[in-house]
Amino acid sequence: MIYLDHAATTPMARQVAASMEPYYAKDYANASTIYEFGEQSRHAVERAREIIARSLHARKQEIYFTAGGSESDNWALKGTVEAYKEKGRHIITTQIEHHAVLHTCRYLEEQGYEVTYLPVDEQGFVRLKQLEEAIRPDTILISVMFANNEIGTIEPIAQIGRIAGRHGILFHTDAVQAYAQIPINVDFYHIDLLSASGHKFYGPKGTGFLYIRDGVKTASFIHGGGQEQGRRAGTENVPGIVGIGAAAELAMHTMSERIYRETRQRDRLIHAIQSRIPGAWLNGDRYARLPNNVNFSFEEIEGETLLLLLDAKDICASAASACSTGSAEPSHVLTAIGRKPELAYGTLRMTLGEGTTWEEIRITAEAVEENVKLLREVARME
Ligand SMILES: *Cc1c(COP(=O)(O)O)cnc(C)c1O
Repeated sequence: MIYLDHAATTPMARQVAASMEPYYAKDYANASTIYEFGEQSRHAVERAREIIARSLHARKQEIYFTAGGSESDNWALKGTVEAYKEKGRHIITTQIEHHAVLHTCRYLEEQGYEVTYLPVDEQGFVRLKQLEEAIRPDTILISVMFANNEIGTIEPIAQIGRIAGRHGILFHTDAVQAYAQIPINVDFYHIDLLSASGHKFYGPKGTGFLYIRDGVKTASFIHGGGQEQGRRAGTENVPGIVGIGAAAELAMHTMSERIYRETRQRDRLIHAIQSRIPGAWLNGDRYARLPNNVNFSFEEIEGETLLLLLDAKDICASAASACSTGSAEPSHVLTAIGRKPELAYGTLRMTLGEGTTWEEIRITAEAVEENVKLLREVARME
């Protein structure tokens, strides 16, 4: 099997699974207990927090463990607007966010908040001038994703952070696709809140964290016990936290090598498709894109059918994003970058990963070329 859907999820690394194993049945103590036996769990949780803090150039107490990217996004948005509602009720985000942000914003609109959904340009970039123009005296939060999960475009995060800071507005970024893939320094980028998810970087599913800068107020997301400094209650998922910590540590070690290899493999695949298949449109920016993302819209074909043909050759890819598969609407991201529906429906996303080989890139390029041509011939005969 050739797995090219790492933006949907990644396989858990063997070392990560091994690191978690002792904390299920052997060292099972509740991390909040005071006896000696609980010390191991507590220590394991704090070690993971330390690793993640270091990976972001943050402080330990700024990392809060959650049950995944969606929870982190929900908390970042609902928690901060609740805490700052006296200051204002206006939020700025973009049209290309993940649904964990977009649907939370829709919910907040129902609660009386106002949301500006910034358009993006043809490459998927937020226009800084439009961001500045959208800022109002009652704007309390700007939420812009670090990198887009469908088209891979990396947003101008440092500039956005600087604009937010200059206006005294909090800046949240959904970094689920970027964290552990590319280096992130929360101070350099002026980030106040950052969401990440374990299963997107070879860690366990159902784990994540939210970075909250010291001094930023947020309402508690889960009320209950005093875990996570009283801001996110519930007995710690010790194996999961150990796992996301181990995945972060591993990712930091392998990052530069992975970026170097994936970027070249990505560019090889992009070049192969562009040079061999006419009517193939690259989605997302050519350069400011995630090292592992390849996304094309092909004229005159159905992406879903192409996926099935590739699946028959044991190649796993994605039509748009896993979240919108099965829905009849073209992806909101492709619509936002101006792809016409006919072209948007012919979209294929391939996201490379740790185990991707050059041989797989070659086989995939051939399979895509062969099947796009086949589908076009069939369409012309009808
Ligand atoms: C996958 C993803 C999420 C959701 O993360 P989960 O851990 O699956 O809840 C949020 N944002 C982006 C950009 C994602 O790619």
